[in-house]
Amino acid sequence: MLKIDIALKSIVDLTPDILKENGIKGLLLDLDNTLTTHDNPRPADGVPEWITSMKQNGIKMMIVSNNHFERVKPFAEKLGLEFVCEGKKPLPDGFNRAQKLMELPSENLAVVGDQIYTDVLGAALKPRVKCVYVFPIEFEKKGFLAFKRKIEGPFLPKKLYDGKSSANLTYKSRIRRKIT
Ligand SMILES: [Mg+2]
Repeated sequence: MLKIDIALKSIVDLTPDILKENGIKGLLLDLDNTLTTHDNPRPADGVPEWITSMKQNGIKMMIVSNNHFERVKPFAEKLGLEFVCEGKKPLPDGFNRAQKLMELPSENLAVVGDQIYTDVLGAALKPRVKCVYVFPIEFEKKGFLAFKRKIEGPFLPKKLYDGKSSANLTYKSRIRRKIT
């Protein structure tokens, strides 16, 4: 079942305190529309500083992207991060490859990303990992991704993380709540 543990407006809103509260020691980071916009070689505002602060707090991080080597490698290098490209999310292969390098148990790992049908579904398909949903930096307006955004609607979190509840509700219970 799809489940979001922590929903935030932007990745830079994810703090060491939030990670601590949720027992998260490692992050499997999506790239496109999470760390920067599509095809943009520059990290989004605040992202380099955020990465530095996470590193200083001992948080392990890897980029796990479905995008190609040529896109992911130079971007990851800019942030001083290891990466997995062609991750095939939502399948667990890419996450598993990253986890091996990070040497952390699944319960201490969180998937971080902006797409319901790759990142959130991917987290759901990997037992015990947590799911951090961040809203896309920029909503896609055309092509397959624009279509995907449309069908994400019912699964988008209704509430940002406030220290206890965020999206600790599963979708099923939220839907049921709406009906009753
Ligand atoms: Mg993305």
